[in-house]
Amino acid sequence: MDSSPFALLFEPLQIGPVTTRNRFYQTPHCNGMGNLRPDAHARMRGIKAEGGWGIVNTENCSVHPSSDLMPEVLQTLWDDGDIPVLARMVEAVHEHNSLAGVQLAYSTYYNGNRLTREIPLGPMSRPVSGYHPVQVRGMDKQDIRNLHDWWAAASRRALQAGFDIINVDSNFSTIAFQFLSPRNQRTDEYGGSLVNRTRLLKELIEVSREATQGKCAISVRLIIDELCGPMGLQAKDEGIEAIGLLAELPDLWDLVVGTWADDSPSSRFASENDHEPFMLGIKSVTTKPVVGVGRFTSPDTMASMLRRGVLDLIGAARPSIADPFLPNKIKEGRYDDIRECIGCNICVSSHFAMTNLRCTQNPTMGEEWRRGWHPEYIEPKKSESEILVIGAGPAGLECARALGQRGYQVTLAERTTQLGGRVTREGEHLPGLREWLRVRDWRITQLNKLPNVGIYMDSDLSIPDIVEFGAAHVVMATGSAWRADGVGRATDRPIPVDDSVQVLSPDDIMDAVPVINGPVLVYDDDHYYMGSVIAEKLARQGFEVVIATPAADISAFTANTLELARVVKRLDECGVAMRTHSILASVEGGEAQFLHPYTGRSQQLTVGSVVMVTSRIANDKLFYSLQTYVEQEAGNKILTVGRVGDCLAPAAIFQAVYTGHKYARDFEAEPEATVAKRERVVLENVRLV
Ligand code: ADP
Ligand code: SF4
Repeated sequence: MDSSPFALLFEPLQIGPVTTRNRFYQTPHCNGMGNLRPDAHARMRGIKAEGGWGIVNTENCSVHPSSDLMPEVLQTLWDDGDIPVLARMVEAVHEHNSLAGVQLAYSTYYNGNRLTREIPLGPMSRPVSGYHPVQVRGMDKQDIRNLHDWWAAASRRALQAGFDIINVDSNFSTIAFQFLSPRNQRTDEYGGSLVNRTRLLKELIEVSREATQGKCAISVRLIIDELCGPMGLQAKDEGIEAIGLLAELPDLWDLVVGTWADDSPSSRFASENDHEPFMLGIKSVTTKPVVGVGRFTSPDTMASMLRRGVLDLIGAARPSIADPFLPNKIKEGRYDDIRECIGCNICVSSHFAMTNLRCTQNPTMGEEWRRGWHPEYIEPKKSESEILVIGAGPAGLECARALGQRGYQVTLAERTTQLGGRVTREGEHLPGLREWLRVRDWRITQLNKLPNVGIYMDSDLSIPDIVEFGAAHVVMATGSAWRADGVGRATDRPIPVDDSVQVLSPDDIMDAVPVINGPVLVYDDDHYYMGSVIAEKLARQGFEVVIATPAADISAFTANTLELARVVKRLDECGVAMRTHSILASVEGGEAQFLHPYTGRSQQLTVGSVVMVTSRIANDKLFYSLQTYVEQEAGNKILTVGRVGDCLAPAAIFQAVYTGHKYARDFEAEPEATVAKRERVVLENVRLV
C-alpha cells in the first residue's frame, strides 16, 4: 500500500482528541430510516464502516422538540430515551474501528414543528418554508440561553451514546447558519457585523466542547457560499472570513455549498468535484483539517485533492451509498470493482418519500437489515441449476451478475449487439445522461470476471430457441416499450390524434426517427426526466419545442431528485416553451387542444409533431408464451419461468436493478429467507389475550 499512489488516503489523522484511521469521511446524509427504523439505520452505517469509511456520521439529529422537521425521518436527542437508538449505530460503527459522528442540529425556517406543535424559533420572525401556514418567532435572549441548555443536554447525550465527533451543524436549515447569513437582520449583538453573526455558532461550539468534557472532537458543518450573490454568504467574501474568525475553535471544518440542491447536484447538471472552486484558500485561514464533498468516485481525484492541499479528508454521501466498500476497494487496488455513483439522486428521492434509502447502483442499500443483504457478499449457490437470462438491460445484467456471483451457471442472451438495454439507449442518445452508463459498465466488468456466466449478443430468442437451449430456469428481462397513444396518468384511453401531425414516442427519438414537422409538442404525462431531456434534445437540434404537462410543474418528480429548478432553467435556456396544467385532449388539423385539470377550460396550440411521453408497455409476450408452453407441453425441462425489471412492470432504472438482484437473492432460497423484516413500535401496557 505504501507505494500506492493512493497511500495518502489511508494515512491516519488526528481530529482533536480522536484519530481517524484514514481520510474517508461519510458525510451526514438522510436515509429515510432514522429513529423510526433504528436497526435498519445502524446496520447501514455499520456496513459503511466495514467498507472502510474511517468516519461515519448520522443524519440531521435534532436537539430539541422545537426543532421538529416532521414528516422527515431523521434523528433526535430530545431525551435520554433517544440514547439507545443512536448507541446502536455507534456500536455498529465502532465494531469496524471507525469513528462515529453525530450531526447535532437545531432547524429553523424549514421546520413547522408539525408533530410537537412547539413554536418554531429563528433569528427573525418569518413564515416557515414550504407553504406551511405557520410563522417562526424571532428569538429573544432567553430563547438563546435556552438553546444553549438544549444544545448542552444533547451533546451530553451524544457522549453517552458513545459518539466520537459532535458535528455542530451550520447547514442551510439550521439556526447557527441562519444567524450567520447576511439574511439575519437582527440589531442586537447577534446581528449586523460578521463577528456578531458568528456569535451563536461560536457559542454552540463552546457549549458542545464543555458538555463533552473534551472527550469528543467538535466539528462544524458550514455552508461556505449560499450561491445567491450578496443576498447570502459568499465564499470569497464573508464565507472564508467566517472560517478565519473561528479558525481554531473546532477540530474539523466540514464544508458544504448552498442548499441541498446546490450541494448534491445530479450528474445531468454537474460533474465530479464541482465544489473545488469554493474550497480553494480555506486551508490558508485555519490549521484544522478540512473536509469537502463533490461526488468523488475517482481515486485519482481524491488523492489529488489531498496532495494539492485543498482538503484533508474526502467527504462523500452518494459515493458511499452507491459503494459502501469504496475505501476498501481502493486500498486493495480493486479500482475496477468500485461501483461508481451515477448522480441520479434517486437516493435523495427516498428521503422525501420517507422510506429506506434506495440507490440505482446499489440494490442492497436500505435492505441491509430488512432483507439481510450485504453489498459485497451473497449466499453461495444451492445447486447446480442452470439459468438462462433473456435481455441485458439493467435488470438482466444485474440478475445475471448476482446469480453468477452466487456461483450458478448462467447464460445471458441479448437481442441486440449492445449490452445495457435502456441505459445504453438513454445514456448514448439523450443529453446529460452519460454517467448513467456506469450502471451498465460496472456490471459488464463484473460479469467478465465470472467464468460461469456466458454472454451472447445478437441473440433474439424465441420459444423454440429457449426450449432448445434447455436451461431449467428462465428469467425474462426483456424490458418495455414506450407507447405513443397518450395513455398515461391523466388519460386512460388513447388520445384522439388525426393524421395532420407526426406522432412519435421516446423510443422513436432514441432510434433517431427523424422529426419532420415543427413546432414539436412534447407531451409529458410521465413527469420524471424523459420529457425534459427529449425537449432539450429537439430544441438543440433547432426545432421550436413546447413541453406541456398536466402537472403544476414541468418534470414534477424531479423535485424529489433536487433537479426541478435546474430542469426548468435548462429548458428555458434552450428556448423551450413550457405549459403546465395542460391535459392533452386531442390533436386535429394541426391544432392540439388542452384542458385545464381543475377548470376544464380549453386552450389550443398549433403543432406539427407530437412526442408522447406518457407510459410504457411491458415486453411480456415472450414470458406469457413460455409460461403457456411450460404448462401445456408435458415432459419439457423448464422448471421455472421468472421475469424482472421493466418486463415485470415498467419503472425507473433503480427498480429494474433491484428486481434483477432480488430474483438472484431469492433463487432457491428458503421461503422465510425471502421475507423482509419489519421494525415495530413497542407498545407499553400490552394486555396479553
Ligand atoms: P430493463 O430496464 O428491465 O433491464 P431494458 O429495456 O433496459 O429493460 O432491457 C431489455 C433488454 O432485453 C433489451 O436490451 C432488449 O434488446 C432485450 N430483449 C428483448 N427481447 C429479447 C429477446 N426475445 N431475446 C433477447 N433479448 C431481448
Ligand atoms: Fe448515486 Fe443515484 Fe445511488 Fe444516489 S441513487 S447514490 S445518486 S447512484
